[in-house]
Amino acid sequence: MHHDPDCIFCKIIEGKIPSQKVHEDELVYAFKDIHPWAPVHFLIVPKEHFASMEQAGPQHEKLLAHMLLLAPRLAKEQGCNPYPAGGYRLQINTGAEGGQEVYHLHLHVVGGSRPWFKA
Ligand code: 5GP
Ligand code: ZN
Repeated sequence: MHHDPDCIFCKIIEGKIPSQKVHEDELVYAFKDIHPWAPVHFLIVPKEHFASMEQAGPQHEKLLAHMLLLAPRLAKEQGCNPYPAGGYRLQINTGAEGGQEVYHLHLHVVGGSRPWFKA
């Protein structure tokens, strides 16, 4: 598994920085966001380091599908209210103008009763 020694999310995956784990399997690690925007806010990250959707290719098809299909189950486990009155937001910030701050690809899963801190 490729890890970047300077990457904060690689350090979290390796257990070098503590995190509140939500889920782990062979492809991904999921943990609570340290500055939540809403009652439920966690990140699903690939265990293997790559920076963003700009680096994603056909070799990541299984991984990206896995991340997206895992999100609804974990969202409900973490307390998101039932669809359609409830639901959740799935967001992948990409590049500076996309609002990306950590350059290890991650899927934000955000939900819970409104109002949210960041709408
Ligand atoms: P981005 O802006 O890159 O899409 O999102 C990065 C997210 O990572 C932010 O929401 C930020 O709060 C979260 N984050 C940054 N550093 C840490 C950390 O050390 N631990 C956790 N749990 N979340 C972090
Ligand atoms: Zn990384």
